[in-house]
Formats: sequence, structure tokens, C-alpha cells
Amino acid sequence: MTVPRDTTVPRQRPAGRLAAPAARPVEHNNAGRFLLRTLFWGGLALAVLPWWLGTKPGSIDTAAEVFQASGRVTGLIAGYLLLMQVILMSRLSLLERWIGARHLGLWHRELGGSVLVTILAHAALITVGYSYADRVGFVKELGTLLSEYADMVTAFIAAGMLVCIALLSIRALRRALPYELWYFLHLTAYLALLLGFAHQFSDGQELFRPGLGRTVWIGFYVVTIAAVVIGRIMGPLTLNLRHRLRVADVVAEGPDMVSIYITGHRLDGLGAEAGQFFRWRFLARGLWWQAHPFSLSAAPNGRWLRLTVKTVGDHTHRLRSMRPGVRIFVEGPWGDFTASRRVRQRALLIAAGSGIAPIRALLEELPPGAIVIYRASAVHDLHLRHELEQLSQLRHAQLWFVVGDRRDPGPRRLFTPSGMRELVPDVTERDAYLCGPDGLVEQSLQVLRRLRVPRRQVHLDPFEF
Ligand SMILES: Cc1cc2nc3c(=O)[nH]c(=O)nc-3n(C[C@H](O)[C@H](O)[C@H](O)COP(=O)(O)OP(=O)(O)OC[C@H]3O[C@@H](n4cnc5c(N)ncnc54)[C@H](O)[C@@H]3O)c2cc1C
Repeated sequence: MTVPRDTTVPRQRPAGRLAAPAARPVEHNNAGRFLLRTLFWGGLALAVLPWWLGTKPGSIDTAAEVFQASGRVTGLIAGYLLLMQVILMSRLSLLERWIGARHLGLWHRELGGSVLVTILAHAALITVGYSYADRVGFVKELGTLLSEYADMVTAFIAAGMLVCIALLSIRALRRALPYELWYFLHLTAYLALLLGFAHQFSDGQELFRPGLGRTVWIGFYVVTIAAVVIGRIMGPLTLNLRHRLRVADVVAEGPDMVSIYITGHRLDGLGAEAGQFFRWRFLARGLWWQAHPFSLSAAPNGRWLRLTVKTVGDHTHRLRSMRPGVRIFVEGPWGDFTASRRVRQRALLIAAGSGIAPIRALLEELPPGAIVIYRASAVHDLHLRHELEQLSQLRHAQLWFVVGDRRDPGPRRLFTPSGMRELVPDVTERDAYLCGPDGLVEQSLQVLRRLRVPRRQVHLDPFEF
């Protein structure tokens, strides 16, 4: 057994510690989601209100006017959606508490398609509308718009950039790029927002003069900038100044897995729960310029934190040779994959690969009687095994290792309704927590659906949003 060297981290494996289970099941934060949806639709109505008030009935007769009016309203919608995209990703802890990091990511991705469509529609409709009015062709009108209208060149560059960013977010294209490259390209959306800003106020009929429209839109920008400054700058700075986290030890769990123990000041004030993750920036050579998400692999205890990391690429490989003492800049805690989100008394936990990290932590905070299914291709791929065995005893949990190729009879049977029922007879009366590679999550979801486990009992933490 490898023992962490720093005296502030446990001399024994942490399995023996019993965390108090979350006091009672709480419903998903539906009120928060409802409130955000209401704010979203209310904001959209406010965004197009100046257009609505300024477009008098009977004032749109000709084809040119129809196209121009449609172009203006799609422009307002596109601008509003873009600001919403920024707010969704502002990492405001309030939003995270209301919606959860996973849903924020999903909403951001879904809204991305609408941004793309409305930007393209806005540019095309306005150009067609003006070309009708000027009685010239589309291309000639495009030339006129670019050469004679203020801030139009930067607006077109911004639109081009946003279209590219949206296309790069298509899963297949995204996967083809190294993550860091994709992420930096995605961040250029802020630059696009800046480039497109001026044309809204110099060319937009609803915004170019003082009045309701302009005031509303300035308000939108102020809220967005405040969200980004608080969520991305002030929040993390305060957190790190307060807790001053450092690596206490790096412990090999196997040939491709390490646990990183972390200490700091006032850790009990971090407000983290088992199952949550942080974005970790280790301030050491070769590591400092990337922040990666890793879940806690032990429930927070006020003295130390722990992550357990599987080596999959450059960054996770370098973490293996990190020395104690390295300072850390962290953002979080994020995620609603927590015991407090359960709706039933008992739980089923299904994990594979590095997904065992948050599942191991959750086992500490869930009430006794959980069932853990740990899927692996080979016995040597089972990590944290002794801890899991000890914890299962302490928490009166059942622990099942399902080992073998996915075509082997055991693993195949597990992902059938009868196989799942054999291991978990009361599956429909449990919350199910799933964490691991896409394939495992998808297979588990399918079988849970077939067994009619209610959707609100299923909690997902797939490592790729
Ligand atoms: C919410 C969440 C929690 C996670 N918890 C754990 C955990 O507890 N233990 C664990 O071993 N792994 C965890 N992961 C996965 C882990 O973040 C990636 O394996 C790691 O970032 C890979 O980095 P790399 O440079 O070594 O590998 P690469 O080969 O560069 O990346 C492998 C894949 O990891 C993803 N990835 C890479 N960099 C990032 C990044 N900065 N942000 C988000 N995704 C990235 C991409 O999908 C990429 O295709 C978690 C991921 C998420 C989203």
C-alpha cells in the first residue's frame, strides 16, 4: 500500500471515514430551471420589443420591407442569443446551483445551432432586402453594405468567425482537433462579440439613437459583462486567495492511474460535495497553461481533497511526475452529481474507467444500502479496489465487479433488463448514478429506460459534455 508522504494527508487509505449522508433527498432544482427559462424568454421579448413597437401595422408592403424587417428582427434575436451563450458559460456559481454544469453545457450547445441560423438569416435577409430596395443584385448590394455602412466589415468578420466556431462545435469536427486548440478557437467568440458590437449601434435601426431599444440593449451588455467578470475573474480569484491549495502528494494507483492529494486553508469552507468536480490548473512547468476538469475521488473532509486521474494524454501523463508543494489555481466546485440530488432513499452506482473517481466519493455520502457496479475489461483495470471493498462494508453496500470484454457473457448479460434485475432487484426504486465512458453510460441508460426507471432518478456525469 502506498502511503501519502505529507503529514496533513491520511496515513491510511481514506476508506474508513464515514461522511454523514445528505440529510434527505432533494428534488432536482426545477424552480431554478423554470426561473432561468422565464428570464430567458422574458429577455427575448424585451430584446425584440423595440422592433415590434417600431414596426407599424401596414408599414410593411413591399418585398424589400418584408426582408428588411425580418433581417432586423433576426439580428436582434441573434445578438440576444449570443449574449445568452456568454452568460451560460460565465461560470457564475448562482447559475451552476440553479441549473448544474452539465445542463448549462447542454443548453449552450443546443443554443449554438440557433445562433448560427439567426446570424446567417440576419445577414442574408438584410442584404436581400436592401438589394430589392436598391434594385441591384445580391453581390453588388453586399459590396455596397461593406463599403458604405459604418462598422460593417468588422460585423461580417464577426459573423464569419461565429459561423466557424459553431461548425467546429459539431461533435465529429470537435473530436478531430486537439482539445486545447478547439478550446482556444472557441474562446475567440469573445473577440467576435467585440467586433460585432459597434455595427449594432451604428447601423441597427432600433439601437442607433437613444431610446427604449438602446437602453435595453446596454442593460443586456452590462449584465453579460458583470456575469463574466464575477464568474470568470472575481469568483476564482477570491476562492484561490482564500484557500491557497497545494499538492500534498501524488500516489500511483496503478500503471495508468494516480491520486493527487491536495491541502489548503479553510477547506471546510469550499462548499464542495462528493461527486462534484473542479477545473484544476497546476502551477508547475508544462502544466500551468491548461485547466482540466477532475472530480473529487473522496468526499471532502475539511483537511484534504483528493482527485484520481487516469492517464489518457499529455496533460494527465505529466501529472504523474508532479512534486508535492505545487500551487494550484482552481475553479469550482461544479456539478449536480451529488447525494443531495437524489430522490430515493437507496442508490445504484455504475462506473467504469476514471468514472470510478466520483462514484467512490459518492459512496461515502450516500445512505447505506447502495449497490455499486464497477465495469472493467480486466482485473488490473479495477482501481481503488481495496478502498471500495472497505467502504462497501462500512456503508453496508453491495459491490459488484463486472470484468471482461463487452462481448463476454457476464458483461453482456448485465446490460439486459433481466441481467440488471438479477443484480439489482429493486432497481426502479433506486436513484441511478452513472459515470464513465460514453458507451457505458449509453448502455446503462438504455437498460434503465427499458426497466422504466423514472428519468428524474437517473443522474449522469459523463466526462464529456
Ligand atoms: C466534468 C468532468 C470530470 C472529470 N473527472 C475526471 C476524473 O475524476 N478523473 C479522470 O481521470 N478524468 C476525469 N475527467 C476527464 C479528464 O478531464 C480528461 O481525461 C483530461 O482532461 C484529459 O487531458 P489530457 O491532456 O491528458 O488528454 P487529451 O488526450 O488531451 O484529451 C483526452 C480527452 O479529454 C477531454 N479533455 C482534454 N482536455 C480537456 C479540458 N481541458 N477540459 C475538458 N475536457 C478535456 C477531451 O474530450 C479530449 O478528447 C473529467 C472530465 C470532465 C468533463
